[in-house]
Parts: sequence; structure tokens; C-alpha cells
Amino acid sequence: MPETVFEVDTEAPPDDQPDPIVNRWHPDTPPAASMEPGEKVRIECLDWTGGQLENDDSANDIRDMELSPNHHLSGPFEVKGAEPGDILVVDILDLGQFPDHEWGYTGIFDKDNGGGFLTDHFPEARKTIWDLDGVMASSRHIEDVRFPGCAHPGILGTAPSHELLAEWNEREQALIDRGPEDATAVNHETGESEPPLALPPEPDGVLLGGMEGEELDEAAQEAARTIPPRENAGNCDIKNLGRGSRVYLPVFVEGANFITGDLHFSQGDGEITFCGAIEMPGWIDLRVDVIKNGMEKMGTDYAMFKPGYMDPDFSNYVVFEGYSVDEEGTQHYKNSTVAMRRACLDAIDYMTNFGYTREQGYFILSTAPVESRIAGIVDLPNTCVTVSLPQEIFDFDIDPDLLADGTAVEDRGDVAKTS
Ligand code: ZN
Repeated sequence: MPETVFEVDTEAPPDDQPDPIVNRWHPDTPPAASMEPGEKVRIECLDWTGGQLENDDSANDIRDMELSPNHHLSGPFEVKGAEPGDILVVDILDLGQFPDHEWGYTGIFDKDNGGGFLTDHFPEARKTIWDLDGVMASSRHIEDVRFPGCAHPGILGTAPSHELLAEWNEREQALIDRGPEDATAVNHETGESEPPLALPPEPDGVLLGGMEGEELDEAAQEAARTIPPRENAGNCDIKNLGRGSRVYLPVFVEGANFITGDLHFSQGDGEITFCGAIEMPGWIDLRVDVIKNGMEKMGTDYAMFKPGYMDPDFSNYVVFEGYSVDEEGTQHYKNSTVAMRRACLDAIDYMTNFGYTREQGYFILSTAPVESRIAGIVDLPNTCVTVSLPQEIFDFDIDPDLLADGTAVEDRGDVAKTS
């Protein structure tokens, strides 16, 4: 078994952990551990909220969640000999849930606290709890669905340099200042965009590993939020970045200082409910290596990866097609976001034929191994996005041909709501 270089305690708060948690990107965050190239290690991770969620039947904890301290991550890890211009190679060997914590959760966030991809259609907080049985997931809140998860880290990335951090903050602030391009995202009463266009540094509740005192207060003013993916990879939320994957990350600081966490038991493409994967605390085994001067040798200053071979083996799908016309009938110009939304709404609508509530359908799309693709992006004025729902995740037949004869709608339970 590889040496555990980072430990967590799922019963303790994030600021009282065996190893100090990190929840922002900053070049000066002191490493939690060092490793040699070629070394294999085990890293334990809290769930992304740092334990704010309970295994119960109420969504109050989703509604009331403190969002600004997220994500709660493990690291940074110094890789000896890594220097700016190198490529860090990370092999994802294995990952999983803790044996004493075999459950995960998925949230729909309140429109006023986080929102989500379909927040206009699903404005209230909701939750589902998933039982994790080996590689299989099922939920008491969504009956007659069971599927294998492609477990993966939502976040894996290297520390930015001071220059790169300044560039992130500058360009994201410029977007906020410029305002939304799409007027539908503006609250007409306040004139503010909803949800916000980007998240500037938030000094409140910043954890930068072992950094303390004045140094921490100062760094917290500029440390970048972990929400968006950027040049260092970070919060990519790629469901195929699972066991067996090899990731190539550009190195921007001495030692690379990579960080990981936000483990997902399973996720559909898009992670659409926002906290949309089956979120869990757990462990991940990695092997690291360094390609000296890799950015020049490989001609890359961006992250890339080779997937493993551990995807679920589904063969039957129902595929929904979205295009760039919104729900009000307004034509947009090659808007893939609108097209994705339409495909998702159709898939959710379809599942109601079999007794699922629209909220259950939203959760299924967000968590099961659902494939989404941009099918066509050249056919003016519409982009075509497909959302493919695997038929085999259901305990019963969802074939479209069945609907021609009408189907008996059954009760499939309900998701956790607020009180
Ligand atoms: Zn996550």
C-alpha cells in the first residue's frame, strides 16, 4: 500500500484536520508534503464542502451552505526537482470512498445560493443521498435506478505563478466589469448578473495549508477561487479522468505544488446541478513524475490527459438533441449553452413519462454516466448538442417505442426537500 501523505478526519471541521486544508490557488501556499518523481502516494480528501452535508432526508443543509470556503482540497504537494517550464505527470492509479463512509450526495442549489445550469427551472434547494456499494450507486431518493460510477477527482492542478495568478484575477474582474453579454442573465431590479459571472478573490474563510497570520491575510486578498478550470487544469470536472488516466500538467512554480480533491463517485457530462456529481470524501492513489523542460519539448503550455479504460460499458441510449433556440422561442446564434439546456430539459421531460419527478430527472442527468457532445457547430444558426441517457441504468425498460402504446406511470419516490 502506498504511503499516505495527507490525512483527513471526516468528523472534524476543515480548520482542525490532521493535515491543513487548502481552499484557494496561491503560489506561496506551503507544501503539505514532498514526494520524489516516480513515487506512489495515497492522498485522503474531504468532500468539497468540508463536511457541511448530512446523510438525511432534508435539503436544508444545501440551502444554507456556506459557499465561499469551498472547495476543501488536499495539498499542495511538492514534487522534488520540478521547475517552471516542466510538465508534471500524474498517474491516477485508484480512488474510492472510505470504508466507514459509503455514501455520497448531490445537490440542486437554491437560485440565490449557488444556482445551477437549469436554475430558472429548478430554483429551490434539493438533495439526494446515494448509497455506494463497491462501484455501484443507488439512492433511496430516486427509485429503480442503479449504475456504476466512473470515480474521478473533480480537481487536480498545479499552483499558478504570481504572474499567472495576477492574469487570472485581472481577466476575471474584467468580465465582471464588462457585465453579461446575454441580458437574460440580469436581475432587472438590481441590475446585477445572476448568478454572478465570475467569483473574484474572497478573503473570508481562506485556508492556505500551513500559512498563518499576516502572510495569510495578505495572500487571501489575491488567492484565486477554485471554482473555474484554468491553465493549471484545476476544477475540470471531467468524468473520464478516472482510474488509469495519465494527466500532463504545466508547472508554474518550483516543486509544482499540485493540489487535488473534490472526489466524485460518478458524474454525468456537464455536472449540471452544480454540486452535480455524487460528491464524497475518500482517498486517491497517484504516481507523480516530471518531464524536464516538458513545456518546450512537448510544445504545450496547457493541461492534457490520456483517459483510463474504466468507463461503464453501456450499449443502449436514448439520445436527446438540443439546438440554439431558448425555451421562449428566441433564436440564438450558435449558442451551445442554450442547446445543451434544451437537450437536458427534453431528457428530463422524457423521464417524467416513467414516473420520475422533474427534479429526479435533473439529478439522474447530473450523476449517472450520461454522455453529452457537441454534435454540430457549423450549421448556422444552431449548434446541435446531444445528451445520451443510458437505458441500462434503469431497472425497467425506457425504450421510446414503449411510449407509443402508453406506459403505466409508477411512483418512483422523491428527492429530499427543504422545510
Ligand atoms: Zn464536486
